[in-house]
Amino acid sequence: MAVFKLDNVEDLYEIGNVLGSGHFGQVREVQERATGTVWAGKFLKLKKGAGSRLGLERKSVEKEVEILQSLQHQNIMGLKDVFESRAEVVLIIELIKGGELFDFIAEKENLTETEAIEFMKQILDGVSYMHQKNIAHFDLKPENIMLSDKHAPNPDIKIIDFGMAHRFIQGEEYKSLGGTPQYIGPEIINYEPLSTAADMWSIGVITYILLSGLSPFQGETDEETLRNIVAMNYEFEPHYFSQTSNMAKDFIQKLLVKDQSQRMTAEECLVHPWIKPLNRTQIAKRNRSSINMKNFKKFNARRKWKMSFNMVSACNRFCRLQLLCKARGPEQQELRDCESDQEDTGTKPASLLRRRLSSSS
Ligand code: ATP
Repeated sequence: MAVFKLDNVEDLYEIGNVLGSGHFGQVREVQERATGTVWAGKFLKLKKGAGSRLGLERKSVEKEVEILQSLQHQNIMGLKDVFESRAEVVLIIELIKGGELFDFIAEKENLTETEAIEFMKQILDGVSYMHQKNIAHFDLKPENIMLSDKHAPNPDIKIIDFGMAHRFIQGEEYKSLGGTPQYIGPEIINYEPLSTAADMWSIGVITYILLSGLSPFQGETDEETLRNIVAMNYEFEPHYFSQTSNMAKDFIQKLLVKDQSQRMTAEECLVHPWIKPLNRTQIAKRNRSSINMKNFKKFNARRKWKMSFNMVSACNRFCRLQLLCKARGPEQQELRDCESDQEDTGTKPASLLRRRLSSSS
């Protein structure tokens, strides 16, 4: 069982600015008082009681911590320490200063496939490492792929957010409904037994978006997106893929495969000719092909807009509920917690699938 320190985190770290927010708390800059080193602190709210629906089960946080403790890789966010108080757990993690990979790319004028592949390789290195340890991330998406330092000549990819990750035990069947609709594989929607291959599907979707600025299965609604995924309803629209090499399309096609056992593994990806060309002709093709930057920028701007819209709506809902609870009086505290959580998870099917709904047998 993961050991969480009982010290007051504020005695050892000075708490600084908010770096980001998730469904269960905030990530803030924290400075270690003893050394002056700056880290990130992920503050996760714990459930207050068995009946409370707000916050995370301690067991779920333990799972995230145990997984992070077993992963030491250049392309995976590192974990330093864990503190626990009555209401929350604080993970002291590696500070990642470079922001999201997609934002970094969107700032560029153009990008060849060869340059994009340098990032893909690092994502695959990190994923291959965790898969070798029988760990699947289950929430790979642009928001969870960050850069150590965007001003470095060759910035390192850092994969973050292991809140939905799972370590497979031999003979165990694991099912989960967690994930973000655009990026999840058909096996998740169909509630079938899962494997590390689910991450490879997400990498296929991420690569497709990176090259074209289109999301392969995106529908008008989440229901439509999920239907498109199950029906394998995607194509390489020539208008958006005119600058894309055939090797890149082949790479994606070998990942967006319904049968998990037939999908390329991370190790196979690393030796696919798009990633590791076999001859000069293949190298030249990659250099001549580029990502559809105009459309990619549009995709990224829409994505950021949606993220801030979701954040503002969540804040508004929370404020409305607080006012409502104040009017009801302090004895309704527990009820407030349940309701605010219901609001958060009940607005759209996407959030129904959001997180930590899983079963093992
Ligand atoms: P979710 O609701 O998506 O599961 P979460 O509560 O598990 O989120 P994270 O996704 O881990 O939280 O982090 C939320 C945000 O905080 C991230 O999107 C990112 O912007 C920022 N963040 C997370 N980890 C770090 C880090 N190590 N360094 C800098 N910023 C970070």
